[in-house]
Amino acid sequence: MTQRIHDFLLRRREEGRDTEPCLVVDLDVVRENYQTFAKTLPDTRVFYAVKANPAPEVLRLLASLGSCFDTATVQEAEMALAAGATPDRVSFGNTIKKERDIARAYALGIRLFAVDCKEEVEKIARAAPGAKVFARILYDCAGAEWPLSRKFGCAPEMAVEVLDHAQRLGLEAYGVSFHVGSQQRNVKAWDRALASAAAIFRDCAERGISLKMVNMGGGFPTKYLKDVPTVRSYGMAIFRALRKHFGNRIPETIIEPGRGMVGNAGIIETEVVLISKKSQKEGELRWVYLDIGKFGGLAETMDESIRYQIRSPRDGADVEPVVLAGPTCDSADVMYEKSPYPLPVSLEIGDKLLIDGTGAYTSTYSSVAFNGLPPLKTYHI
Ligand SMILES: *Cc1c(COP(=O)(O)O)cnc(C)c1O
Repeated sequence: MTQRIHDFLLRRREEGRDTEPCLVVDLDVVRENYQTFAKTLPDTRVFYAVKANPAPEVLRLLASLGSCFDTATVQEAEMALAAGATPDRVSFGNTIKKERDIARAYALGIRLFAVDCKEEVEKIARAAPGAKVFARILYDCAGAEWPLSRKFGCAPEMAVEVLDHAQRLGLEAYGVSFHVGSQQRNVKAWDRALASAAAIFRDCAERGISLKMVNMGGGFPTKYLKDVPTVRSYGMAIFRALRKHFGNRIPETIIEPGRGMVGNAGIIETEVVLISKKSQKEGELRWVYLDIGKFGGLAETMDESIRYQIRSPRDGADVEPVVLAGPTCDSADVMYEKSPYPLPVSLEIGDKLLIDGTGAYTSTYSSVAFNGLPPLKTYHI
């Protein structure tokens, strides 16, 4: 935890404002993360994935540092523009868009769109004539802790057809994109995807279409319980893969970090509401209920995928595994049960816990008023 977050939480507690859970994000850490990405891949443009944390403070900071923005909706695009980005620094990266939203984005000046099928290309040709499009390809996401399924992207051979179709309809077939899966702990994951991208470049060139850009997506991890490689090692592996597959004709490149940009900048403070057992049987686990759960911002504990680091004021004491659950009346609101979580035996009701690495994919996942609970309170300092 940074000194600034520590001091902020202390003051909040002293002023008696610590009645609800909260997320505190240290903007200095976001700034450092941006600079690390920019320095590590100096020839690559950074498009921050807005969905990871769309707080205006984060967007304004990144806009001022020169970041571009990957947006999933017109609303996110408007937020990036309001934060100071110019339309040429905003992409519409969702492959699933309403035609009227494409037209709205085009009216805002946005000219860079993702596609993964001919049907979407046709919408863009009608609503955003002359725009640049890049084709998203499928990737199996092995090695990622939050894999992305088959929802986005098409087979590489089909991407060639999709780009060809775009060019025929008067769009600019601009490039290829992929996402290696979020929280990708294997630095080599980009290699295979870049091999596919290079093959698409060659196939398109044979058809007289000269692609210019590879969008290498997000996937850069945040440290949760397990250690993760440094951004520098990702940068070196990516650069080597670019050289290997594109030789000395490396195209324009983009990365879209979300989690890796903001994850480690945030900490959630939560309170222990109840500690109890389900029976008096020998070996029965304790249940620890917090005032935040899956519906309060910890949605990524779904299937116990993301395993956060949780700290307590009693760290250093003996620990034993507990089942960790949220406060709501929904039985799915259990974070860790299949793999119980070690917490101090001396933990007590009313203790405050700190959940590390929660700057990404938390605040916007918290429900509006499920069980009457307010959305997660957030502070960007
Ligand atoms: C969500 C998303 C990202 C960000 O992914 P991270 O794993 O958080 O870095 C990047 N690009 C696209 C298209 C996305 O949908």
